Amino acid sequence: MPSAEIITIGTELLLGDKQDTNTQFIAHALRDLGLDLYRTTMIGDNADRIAQAIIESLQRTDIIITTGGLGPTVDDPTRSAIAQALGQDLIFQEDLWQQIQERFQRWQRTPTENNRRQAYLPGGAVAIENPVGTAPAFRASVGEKTIICLPGVPREMEEILISKVAPYLRDRYTLNQTLTTYTMHVAGMGESQVDEIVGDLETLSNPTVGLLAHAGQIDIRLTAKEQNADNAMQLIMPVVEDIRGRLGMNIYGEQDITLEEVISDLLSRSGLCLGLVEAGMGGSLLDRLSNIPLRDPVQYQDGISPEALAESVRSRSALLDNCVILGASACKEDMKFDLHFSVFNKGRLCQHERSYGGPPASASSFAATLALDYLRRLLIDPKSI
Ligand code: ATP
Repeated sequence: MPSAEIITIGTELLLGDKQDTNTQFIAHALRDLGLDLYRTTMIGDNADRIAQAIIESLQRTDIIITTGGLGPTVDDPTRSAIAQALGQDLIFQEDLWQQIQERFQRWQRTPTENNRRQAYLPGGAVAIENPVGTAPAFRASVGEKTIICLPGVPREMEEILISKVAPYLRDRYTLNQTLTTYTMHVAGMGESQVDEIVGDLETLSNPTVGLLAHAGQIDIRLTAKEQNADNAMQLIMPVVEDIRGRLGMNIYGEQDITLEEVISDLLSRSGLCLGLVEAGMGGSLLDRLSNIPLRDPVQYQDGISPEALAESVRSRSALLDNCVILGASACKEDMKFDLHFSVFNKGRLCQHERSYGGPPASASSFAATLALDYLRRLLIDPKSI
């Protein structure tokens, strides 16, 4: 399977003035083509350094995709960097200049002398038509290897990548494999706990199994490479079954489903409404539940004690008929947070506590996920806790 690297070019990216969104888009497109992406590089508008990066990448990989640096200004260095890396001159392409002029005419504008720069390509390179902008993209072959240079403007880059580059690569490298992914969501367990249970599966090669940690949630991502999605799913599903058996109800859902959707579904199946007491969490639980109709939610600015939380939850339950009440509180203690959860359902109060010592900015979303997961477990099986 051919391998690929991405090089995004632009000093504004290195300065942090502009976020590199091109890499993510190209990475997904390469994944869909079934290509292995091994490395991405970000580099400023400097022809020597770009040429060096190209020379190094060519030693490692089959396909290099660059974005940026194709405009008409002096600091748009990609054309000359590629020429330098390949030991070629920049050659004026009359037909490309015609195309650029025609495009300007269509937009009732006149190309400047600067735009002529865009009609120069490294010797041996082939222009790729840019249907949505003026910067012409191009490709150059080095034996079996290919360098593709695309504009930096995301909309232009995306259009050319999908409509021109993907079909070209499919054809040239006879790409008939695609990557299919399947995601399982686990809450209430840490990454190392999940790793202990499914770690042996992480050495599989097709599908591969990887863990992705979010605040309070671990995603298990299975990825298979096959000729089509159906064949890939045949490889994936036995491993999914295996993981379901190992993790049981720690898995709250699979694929696109969210924890909030699972709770909404459980509530409507049991005909219950939801009441809420949230303390010291900056509204993160209220935000997460914005699509679920809440009965008179109560919010405290600061965290409260487990006793006060239990009392508040209990008193809400006395006021609200046919409601399950979820309470969650986060109290900062030195460098960590003490988290308390209470659920009142069908005459019974359940309480749970955890501590959190990760980045303070993520404490509320961690607490919100754990609170929702605690509620989920109790709604599925009150004896599960
Ligand atoms: P142009 O003809 O517009 O000059 P170009 O190929 O020279 O196109 P750049 O000048 O490098 O591209 O960038 C054009 C615009 O696209 C800029 O606003 C730049 O910040 C943005 N851009 C460049 N690279 C990226 C990237 N990797 N992710 C997101 N935006 C990008």
